[in-house]
Amino acid sequence: MNPKDFITTKLFSSKAKIRILMEPFIGKSKDGYYQSVAEFVRRRLGQEFLDYAINPFVSGVFAGDPENLSVKSAFPKLYRLEEVYGGLFKGMIKGAKERKKRAEKSKQSAAMFSFKNGMSVFTKKLCDVLGNDILLNHRVEEIKKDNQNYVVVTNVNGEKKEIKTQSVFITTPAYVAAEILKNMDGYLFNQLSTIYYPPVLVLNVIYRKDKLGQVLDGFGFLIPEKEKKSFLGAIWNDSIFPNRGDENFASFTIFVGGARQSKIFENDLNEVINQVLSEFEQIMKIQSQPESIKYKFWEKAIPQYSIGYVEKEFAINTFEQRNRGIFLGGNYRGGISIGDCIKNSEIHFERLSNFVRNNLFIEYRREIN
Ligand SMILES: Cc1cc2nc3c(=O)[nH]c(=O)nc-3n(C[C@H](O)[C@H](O)[C@H](O)COP(=O)(O)OP(=O)(O)OC[C@H]3O[C@@H](n4cnc5c(N)ncnc54)[C@H](O)[C@@H]3O)c2cc1C
Repeated sequence: MNPKDFITTKLFSSKAKIRILMEPFIGKSKDGYYQSVAEFVRRRLGQEFLDYAINPFVSGVFAGDPENLSVKSAFPKLYRLEEVYGGLFKGMIKGAKERKKRAEKSKQSAAMFSFKNGMSVFTKKLCDVLGNDILLNHRVEEIKKDNQNYVVVTNVNGEKKEIKTQSVFITTPAYVAAEILKNMDGYLFNQLSTIYYPPVLVLNVIYRKDKLGQVLDGFGFLIPEKEKKSFLGAIWNDSIFPNRGDENFASFTIFVGGARQSKIFENDLNEVINQVLSEFEQIMKIQSQPESIKYKFWEKAIPQYSIGYVEKEFAINTFEQRNRGIFLGGNYRGGISIGDCIKNSEIHFERLSNFVRNNLFIEYRREIN
């Protein structure tokens, strides 16, 4: 949190702290485009920082494995700090000064958000605003080119319907976009359909507060791979979002699997849950059974921006240039967090609006001529 905390923390050995302080003296890498997050961090900050800070952090954000994620695509800001400023410390100091000049807020200090009644409030509100303009239960199966237009083929309870349009904004998962556009671009299909989405099991458990041996004095915890536990980490929901639960009970969200531990699901799911809860109860010093257990299994959870992701980004950009009026968005492009998805939607919406405005203008010119 500050230099004094860094020196006194027991989270890292003295050797690791000295290695971290050497960061400003480490040079740039030559092949940054194909560098993993692990290689980048090992080189700049050392193995221990990778094992005990970055490895759990990456599993918390991407449910990912730092050895396979591309630093350029998954953490572009980190990559840019080295590219632009020559190092992370130098970049953070200079970047903070530049932000101060622009009176801009750092992302680290931006507030965490949710809704009192859960995230579905957001989509329900969008639905209310769009009203009859939104067509529900229309599964898009294909998009075809038809002269200057596109035909969106949908499946509504087994019945095919076609919608003719000049522009389309596709925000399905990448593997669905791949299928939808398969007949238009085989190269794009290959690139999008090979984006890896590892499985994640999300467990929601509730215990009586008086049975907890651990004080809930944080957000929760993430587990470094080296600790060899059968889950990735847990969120202490009442600490992050107070006033949601009952004062006598504590609720937790536990994450299992991801790219680091996808093989765990080769075992029986009930066995996995029992093993995870037994380890969780040991860590949290809980002396009783949970009052409630709910779970959701995400077979394809989060897209991994793996090494070589630049080629997928290139394929998407090229496809959009060749097929004017089609825009691709969603969490496989430009960031996986809800915040990034919202920010990128605004960017793509702006591009789409410009396209529609230009088209209207061209049509108008054609008519008056
Ligand atoms: C377990 C888990 C925990 C997460 N936790 C956080 C967190 O704490 N904070 C955070 O910022 N992010 C978190 N994320 C990431 C974030 O939730 C996602 O990256 C984000 O919601 C993705 O939004 P999206 O619109 O790209 O995709 P989605 O929300 O997946 O939307 C895709 C849409 O496409 C629709 N669709 C699919 N196929 C078709 C078709 N053929 N025709 C028409 N429509 C179709 C689907 O119905 C869906 O509505 C988490 C993700 C997971 C899996």
